[in-house]
Amino acid sequence: MKLAPPRGRDLPASAAAAHESLEQRRVPFLDLRPSHELLRNEIVAGFGELIDSSEFVNGPRVEAFEEDFAEYCGVSNCVGVSSGLDALRLALAAMGATSGDEVLVPALTFVATVEAVRQAGARPVLVDVSEADYCLDVAAAADAITARTRFLLPVHLYGQLADMRRVTELASRRGLVVVEDACQAHGAERDGHRAGSCGSAGCFSFYPSKNLGAMGDAGAVTTSDREVATRLRALREHGQLVRHEHRLEGYTARLDAVQAMVLRHKLTLLEHWNRQRAAAASYYLDHLDGLGDLGLPPVAEGSRPVWHLFVITTADPDGLGEHLAAAGVESGRHYRRPVHLNPAFEDLGRQGEFPVAERLARAALSLPLYPGIEESQLARTVAALRAYFDGG
Ligand SMILES: *Cc1c(COP(=O)(O)O)cnc(C)c1O
Repeated sequence: MKLAPPRGRDLPASAAAAHESLEQRRVPFLDLRPSHELLRNEIVAGFGELIDSSEFVNGPRVEAFEEDFAEYCGVSNCVGVSSGLDALRLALAAMGATSGDEVLVPALTFVATVEAVRQAGARPVLVDVSEADYCLDVAAAADAITARTRFLLPVHLYGQLADMRRVTELASRRGLVVVEDACQAHGAERDGHRAGSCGSAGCFSFYPSKNLGAMGDAGAVTTSDREVATRLRALREHGQLVRHEHRLEGYTARLDAVQAMVLRHKLTLLEHWNRQRAAAASYYLDHLDGLGDLGLPPVAEGSRPVWHLFVITTADPDGLGEHLAAAGVESGRHYRRPVHLNPAFEDLGRQGEFPVAERLARAALSLPLYPGIEESQLARTVAALRAYFDGG
């Protein structure tokens, strides 16, 4: 339990200084302020222009961001939507997912991947993940294919691409459609291909903590298929391709202009931020090797992860998390349970059915990592980890 820190001005000067240095030594799990400080003036000016224009829904800001993000991902179309969940379920719907269709999904992911499949009316079928990259185990996916399987939905977990070379090869051999859950992988590459450009559609979330984050909820679908893009544009807006002509039954699921404006500014710094994340990850990889039972995140050959999360494994992640918290270092659990061990999804698998996903969920602890994290903060995190493993 954490007590609210006393306010500095009520304390004698020496105590206030001690409190301040404790506060300075704290390592937050995530701090968005260093990123936003770089763009504050542009974004504030952008808000002003938006108010003057009243173009809050659709309009030039949304189109401009869609063009820039399509180019960044190396595809010809981007359709902005209101969240990562909507990106996934609209992408599945745009590609004709219907009831009875089975969609192969990794057992270790954020639950939105599975929610999207169900909300698109299809049936999620879980597949274990691989020790090699913590993403969809392609051999296990091949074994899970039935006559009803229509989609492969790999997730680029923690910022590393799934093995898309083998995923797309399996899909073309078995006549399946590939939809990427790229919500944690903006800019990640593997075997020379970028997230969002490998499947028939790539689905992104711009939730504030993602590598490219909005100032609220937002998402996008990337695709090189113009017809899919056209259907997505209709689905996000009540099925309209032309105003007041409702061809399909759709949703209110647009990317709003405020978020598009923010995202367009932030996209200019995404590569810079991903490099900062990679530098922080290298620091951890260099300084944490060989500590107790600590397992470092795998990086597959030919893979360039963007380190959405830096996830280590250990026998007692909750105990380690408490030790770190006492040293002022915040950590997270992504994910404490694989999909099928959550009450809402217990019909999707039995305990023991997906052993790698279950082992990772039991052992995973996420360390502080964000653009602008300072070397002194990384060093404090490493020192606290060393104290736990060397002292205990
Ligand atoms: C964040 C995330 C989503 C959902 O995105 P929202 O914008 O929160 O709806 C889906 N899949 C994965 C893997 C995610 O990390």
